[in-house]
Amino acid sequence: MLVGDVATDASRSARLTQVSPDLSDDYMTVQLLAAGLARIQMEQHGALWSTPSLGAKSVGLPPAWNAGVNRLWWRALESGLAQLPTHMDVFAWCTRPLGQWPLALGISESDRGLLLVEDSRPSAFADEAARLAMAKDPEAELVENRSFELLMSTADRNADHEAQVQENYVELRGFLIDKAVASDLDLAALIRRFPAKNSHGQPWVKEWFLHAYQHRAASGTTTLDVCDGCDNPLPAGRQARCGTPGCAGHPARQAVESMSELYVQRMAIRRFFHDPGLAERRLFEAVRPTLAERMYPWWGMDAVDLAIDFDSTGRMGEGEWWAADVKDHASAALLGRNFRWDPRANARRRFLVLAQHRFETRDYIADLKHAMDGRVRGVEVVGEEDFIAAVLRRASERD
Ligand SMILES: [Zn+2]
Repeated sequence: MLVGDVATDASRSARLTQVSPDLSDDYMTVQLLAAGLARIQMEQHGALWSTPSLGAKSVGLPPAWNAGVNRLWWRALESGLAQLPTHMDVFAWCTRPLGQWPLALGISESDRGLLLVEDSRPSAFADEAARLAMAKDPEAELVENRSFELLMSTADRNADHEAQVQENYVELRGFLIDKAVASDLDLAALIRRFPAKNSHGQPWVKEWFLHAYQHRAASGTTTLDVCDGCDNPLPAGRQARCGTPGCAGHPARQAVESMSELYVQRMAIRRFFHDPGLAERRLFEAVRPTLAERMYPWWGMDAVDLAIDFDSTGRMGEGEWWAADVKDHASAALLGRNFRWDPRANARRRFLVLAQHRFETRDYIADLKHAMDGRVRGVEVVGEEDFIAAVLRRASERD
């Protein structure tokens, strides 16, 4: 028991009241706990952990985790709980839906079913919440940040002009969505396509690739258990479900050709680029046959996920442009609080497009709009299918 009887410890109570002015913000608490879990997992070599080594003491635990638990203590004091939760208690809470914690959290209805720890590792929601917290932490070397930098460098060093940088960017970004599993043959093809080398004589694209994928020895044809909906490999022994948000796919067998190595996407890359990219890809594929050259995937190096130039002016802001940011976040409230429109995307109509399964989640839209609280003006919130229908309708009106 880390914390004893509350009533006898007035100094602790006094100290807790000074912790932070935004203590009533339980999303901050959840984000800190998530960032702490992410850090614990990183320090334990990103292994699948069944039980993280959370001792009885806070010493050695990540500062974010400690700050999150501190805020819960304050909450517990405030709500008159007889005993403050220990670190192990809080860890156990993380495996339960947020709406079922012994301390009532001030969170949106659509977030009550979310878990921070799922299948013995930080959930996709925890990753998302952690990223939002860690984005402000210069110490946090997020895998996806480095991956993004390397992607930009590869796109840039293999181009002679700006339009080509964008084309390269689109191709590399698309690779991450198309290839949950890749082989050394894919890597060789990428190196032929993007030959520019860094100062160590290594192709930029190779550095990017090796950062995004973990290798696995294999030769000839390897047959893998994958999900036919999202292409993600299924965990050994547990083939029932891929765990990809919104995916309704089924177990399938996939044959991958290689010389001597297979590569599997790292979890952070999967969760940051691949899985949310599935909604982006569906959207591109639905409108591409109609729009062709008038659509720009990941316009402006990702300023928005899709820009549409109905008048073919080639210049954003001239003529009728639509732009869309596609989101697939577990928490509507966190998305709403953190959503920003990139001002470079100066389009006539601006959309926040939600992956269809989020759009159809009960209370999600109401909670999202509530969290956005009029902060983001002129952005229309729509579901994936409605957006596609609107684009196709507009294109047919104009043809
Ligand atoms: Zn799947």
